[in-house]
Amino acid sequence: MQHIIDRFISYVTIDTESDANSPTTPSTAKQWDLANKLAEELKAIGMEDVTIDEHSYVMATLPSNVDHEVPVIGFVSHFDTTPDFTGANVKPQIVPNYDGGDIILNKELNIVLSPSYFKDMLQYKGQTIITTDGTTLLGADDKAGITEIVTAMEYMIQHPEIKHGKIRICFTPDEEIGRGADLFDVEKFGAEWAYTMDGSQIGELEYENFNAAGAKITFKGISVHPGYAKGKMINSMLLANNFISQLPANEVPEKTKGYEGFFHVVGISGSIEETTVQLIIRDHDKVKFEERKVMIQTITDNINAEYQKQFGGDVVIPEVRDYYYNMKEKVEPVMHIVEIAEKAMRELGIEPLIKPIRGGTDGSRLSYMGLPCPNIFAGGHNFHGKYEYVPVESMQKAVEVIVKIAELTAEKK
Ligand SMILES: [Zn+2]
Repeated sequence: MQHIIDRFISYVTIDTESDANSPTTPSTAKQWDLANKLAEELKAIGMEDVTIDEHSYVMATLPSNVDHEVPVIGFVSHFDTTPDFTGANVKPQIVPNYDGGDIILNKELNIVLSPSYFKDMLQYKGQTIITTDGTTLLGADDKAGITEIVTAMEYMIQHPEIKHGKIRICFTPDEEIGRGADLFDVEKFGAEWAYTMDGSQIGELEYENFNAAGAKITFKGISVHPGYAKGKMINSMLLANNFISQLPANEVPEKTKGYEGFFHVVGISGSIEETTVQLIIRDHDKVKFEERKVMIQTITDNINAEYQKQFGGDVVIPEVRDYYYNMKEKVEPVMHIVEIAEKAMRELGIEPLIKPIRGGTDGSRLSYMGLPCPNIFAGGHNFHGKYEYVPVESMQKAVEVIVKIAELTAEKK
């Protein structure tokens, strides 16, 4: 257990915060610090074909140790942490034999991690929990995933009696700013399928995510002196209000869960002559997703028809752009890749928690790039903030899941 703790701490104490405003990859030079360390460490534990490319993607191979043919599989994690909360000077605290009570993260600042607010903590009573000191995030997202992959590879190298096919691993930069898959060389990786080790609590197994689009809608108005405006003025802010009020009021993030999709207004700025509304569209169901985009167009057309004569052109101009799609479409034709992960968990006494992701993962992008890629738990909780924590036992279980998936994939049929 100490080995896995030491490894995890050696990663989280390296600041790798990414930056959405940077055009380079990696987005921050400091991500190289961990990328280079990982490449060295992979060589040291005996991995082969260890490469680090000009964008800091680290890849390595664990060669097959069986004679028969086995599909090449992969495991993927990201080494950046979110820019939403500071990841500099992480000082992890280790709480052995967690007693089920409050954990004081920072006495001076009176920051407490409490199961009365974070009920999930109670399922880890008696376990060893790693927390922050209340001033930074922890970085279990996704350095727990990296710890698990490296430890599983090391374990299989040290235990050649465990039979497995060729395994490829990749650690990526900039996942948190949505670019982890951008420069991922799927062909070089050469796996038939892979798993991101980037989920949260023990048991999580995900292969469905949102279809996602964003819309920027511009409203045009005509400004006239308000005293003499009758029949002349068009107030673009009121057009925007009219538009938003025609969207289904109950289909918003705060009123939906599970497979329920939504429209979400994320920004408005306006004056009489011009208003812009930014909104995002999410739905797991491809048909409903397309219907949502049609709805945007229908509302647009209706308002435009109403003002056509007065304005002499379109008052509503929508620009809709797709971001990513539900990986289910790419995973369902190869459902055995989910079933293997499920079987691995069950054989290890872990109850698989299969649920749709209300967001996206790098795996969804990778799935559409030709690498079907479900997501497996990495073990952490409360990502992207000071209350982030990870039970060491969950990381150990994730290591076992990786090894078991490797074994099951290599089983002779
Ligand atoms: Zn992550």
